[in-house]
Amino acid sequence: MIIVLKTGVDNEKVESLKSWLIDKGLSIAPIYGTEKTVLGLVGDTSHLSIDEVSMHEAVEKVLKVQEPYKKANRKFHPENTVIKVGNVLVGGKDIVVIAGPCSVESEEQIMQIAQQVKNAGASMLRGGAFKPRTSPYAFQGLRTEGLMLLKRAGDAVGLPIVSEITNPYYLEIFEQYVDLIQVGARNMQNFELLKELGRIKKPILLKRGFANTIEELLMACEYIMNEGNQNVILCERGIRTHENYTRNTLDLSAVPALKRISHLPVLVDPSHGCGLSWMVEPLSKAAISVGADGVIIEVHNNPAKALSDGPQSITPSEFSYIMPKLREYARLEGRHISIPHTVAYAGTPGSFANEAAEKLYPTHALTGLEHFEDVFDAVLNNRIEIGVVPVENTLAGKVERVQELLEDENIEIINRIKLPIKQMLVAPAGTELSSIRKIYSHEKAFEQCKKFLSTMPECRLIPYSTTSAAAAVVAALNDKCSAAIASETAARLNRLEIIKDSIQDEEENYTEFVVFRRKKRA
Ligand code: PEP
Ligand code: MN
Repeated sequence: MIIVLKTGVDNEKVESLKSWLIDKGLSIAPIYGTEKTVLGLVGDTSHLSIDEVSMHEAVEKVLKVQEPYKKANRKFHPENTVIKVGNVLVGGKDIVVIAGPCSVESEEQIMQIAQQVKNAGASMLRGGAFKPRTSPYAFQGLRTEGLMLLKRAGDAVGLPIVSEITNPYYLEIFEQYVDLIQVGARNMQNFELLKELGRIKKPILLKRGFANTIEELLMACEYIMNEGNQNVILCERGIRTHENYTRNTLDLSAVPALKRISHLPVLVDPSHGCGLSWMVEPLSKAAISVGADGVIIEVHNNPAKALSDGPQSITPSEFSYIMPKLREYARLEGRHISIPHTVAYAGTPGSFANEAAEKLYPTHALTGLEHFEDVFDAVLNNRIEIGVVPVENTLAGKVERVQELLEDENIEIINRIKLPIKQMLVAPAGTELSSIRKIYSHEKAFEQCKKFLSTMPECRLIPYSTTSAAAAVVAALNDKCSAAIASETAARLNRLEIIKDSIQDEEENYTEFVVFRRKKRA
C-alpha cells in the first residue's frame, strides 16, 4: 500500500498516522519527492482498508500495490532513481558506458585496457576477478589479486570499478575496493548473498538470471532493498530461449518493461546477451534506443587470447569506433554521452586511415565513418573535431574525391602523415589461394595490387567502400571462395588469416593522409 501525503501537512499529523500504522505491525518507507511525500508500507496490508487509512488528516490518496515487489516498484517511488557510483550518476541524463575485460588477467592487460576505454569515453571500468565459470577446469579469475589490479587500474585512469561478487565471504574486500558490486546471472537468486549486500551501502549491479522472469529479477532486488540498501542498478544480460545462434537471447523488451514498473536504473549487457563481438555494436545502439540508462561492454586487447569470453569481446579500437555512434543514439533519446576528443577516420577499425589516426592521436576517441563524405560532414557539422582521410598513394595516385571535398572553404588542413602501406590478401582460416573466386576491396587497393591480381585471372573484383569494410564482409560470408585485400590489422580484427602477405606492386608503397578540422571563425 502507498500513502500519498497532502502537501504542506503538519508534521504532528504525519507522526500520528505513522504510529497508527506501526501499531498495525507495518513498517514504513518514506520517499521524499520534489513535490510530494509518499509513505510506502511494507508488510501484510490485507487487513487494512483504503477508507480506514484515508480518514487520517495527513492523507491525500491511498493506492494498493498489487505487485509482489514493493521497494523497487515505481508506485513506491514515482521519480527515476539516480544512483551515484564514485563520481558517476547512473539513471540520470547521462548514458553510462561500462567497459573492460571479462576477467582481469594481468597488470599490463588491465592497465592498457583501462587507459584505452577511458580515452574513448567509458565512464566505469569492469573486470572480473572471481569468475563463476560453467566448468571448474576453466580459468577461475585472479581473485583478490585481480581485484587489486582492477582497483589500481581504475585509480590510475580515474574510473570507478565494477566487479562481480560470488560469495558473502569476500564482502569486506569488495566493500572496501569496488565502487559497483556486480551480482552475476548465476547468483541472482543467491538470497543469502543478496541479503548481505542489502546490509551495506555500496551500489549493486544486479544482473538478470538467464532463466528468470522480469518479476523474479525485481523480487531478487527486493531482497537487497528490504535490508536497507536502496542503491540497486538492474541489468538485462540475455536469457535462455530455444534460439542457439546467439549465446543468449537479449531481451530488450525487458528494458521498457523495467523502466515502466520500476524506478531503478536499467543497464544492458550486449556482450553476454549475444556472445558475438560483431553484434555488440547494433545491440548497444538498440539498448540506448529502448531506454536503457547505459551499457556494460566486454573489451579485451587480444580477444583471440582472452582467458574468458574472447568471442564476445571487442577490441579497444572497436570500442573507440562504437562510442561516438552511441553518442548519436543517445542524442536522439535526449540523453548524453560525453567523450573528451573525437577524431573520425575513413573506414572501420583496421582501415589505413584508422592506423594514421591512431599514430597521430593515441589518446583520442577514434571513430570510423564509411564514406569520405561522412567524415567531412561530421567535421563540418561539429559532431566530430578532427577528420583523417587519405589523399594520395604512391602507386594509385590522388584520391580525387578527397581532393574535391578538401576544397570546401570551411575546412582547414592541420597536419599530414605518410604511412607505408602493406596490402594483404585475407580470408577465413583454411581458405586456399586456388579456391578464391571473389576479391573484395577498395578500388585504390586493387590499383596497388595489379601485378598480383594478374595472377588471379579467374577472380571477380568487387569494389567496396573501404578495405576494412571489405574484410568485414568476407568474414561474414565465410565461404572459402571470398577474400579481401586489406591491412593486417583488419585481418586480425575480423578474425581472418593472411593468405598472402605484401601483395602491392612495389615493396615501397606509401599513402599520404590529411588531417583537417572545421575552420575557426575569426
Ligand atoms: C560477467 O559479467 O563477466 C558475467 C559473468 O556476467 P553474467 O553473470 O551476466 O553471465
Ligand atoms: Mn564475461
